[in-house]
Amino acid sequence: MTAPQPLIRRLCVIGVGLIGGSLARALREQGEVIEVVGSGRNEDNLRAAVRLGVVDRYDTDPARAVVDADVVVVAVPLGAIEPVLRTIVPRLASDAVVTDVGSAKGSVVTDVERVYGRIPSHFVPGHPIAGTEKSGVEASFATLFQRRRVILTPLAETTAAAHRLIKRMWELTGAEVVDMGVRHHDAVLAATSHLPHMLAYTLVDTLARLDDRAEIFRYAAGGFRDFTRIASSDPTMWGDICAANREQLLEMIALFSADLARLAEAIRADDRAAILAVFQRAKRARDNLYLD
Ligand code: NAP
Repeated sequence: MTAPQPLIRRLCVIGVGLIGGSLARALREQGEVIEVVGSGRNEDNLRAAVRLGVVDRYDTDPARAVVDADVVVVAVPLGAIEPVLRTIVPRLASDAVVTDVGSAKGSVVTDVERVYGRIPSHFVPGHPIAGTEKSGVEASFATLFQRRRVILTPLAETTAAAHRLIKRMWELTGAEVVDMGVRHHDAVLAATSHLPHMLAYTLVDTLARLDDRAEIFRYAAGGFRDFTRIASSDPTMWGDICAANREQLLEMIALFSADLARLAEAIRADDRAAILAVFQRAKRARDNLYLD
């Protein structure tokens, strides 16, 4: 009996950081990829990727890195997706399937359309709902996607075969894969991820500019640490996310600002009933709805 073939013969990961590196590690651990080629700008990071066994080899030129790859994963910050696509498209194998991991999807679809002049059938937009506040290949680990969700936003033009391949790829990492429309994805993520990052960054920034900040941070307890962990995330990546999901994020910020202003008003008026109503609704929602 012949052994089953790995899912991917040659995987090219452009941006061998937390997400790209963790995906490569997971697929290697599963024996589902024969060769992994990495690409990026920083050779120290790429050399580390070889040393850690995340990639077999690398090329700092993405156009060379994608040659003969059957799957190409673009795992760079959102602002770098268009230039990377522009570089690699002429060199892709005719049967290559391309996907990305960007945290917003509308901007990626626009980038793809701009580069190709249309939506190609082999592009499957994707977004793993998993991560940490750390960056780079050293922060990557094979179990990052286990029991996490990966959202794919296949388009009308996407072939069933390309969609199936990328879905299977993510399932092999231990993730649950769900499909969503592009706009719906961006609205959901604005609420569940992008707004919370804005709150964490702003809270830490506000406190860090107070005169007695040293004293304040000395007495910050577990709750503060939990709430603000994500303010350690990469600023460039999050600047790109703000630009990529501007409209939906602004809607959520406006909604939240109005609610916060109402709470401030209730505190000013010493309106205990209004204050308790907010806290009770929130506690009920957090206790009942939020599943880790
Ligand atoms: P990361 O650890 O910083 O990795 C990104 C990699 O992209 C880096 O290794 C970097 O390598 C490369 N890169 C950066 N700019 C580039 C450019 N202009 N051209 C080519 N390569 C470039 O970041 P990450 O957390 O893996 O994020 C990657 C993508 O995943 C982003 O689009 C992000 O929105 C998405 N995402 C992140 C999370 C999260 O929690 N972190 C979760 C889901 C999705 P070089 O420095 O060597 O170029």
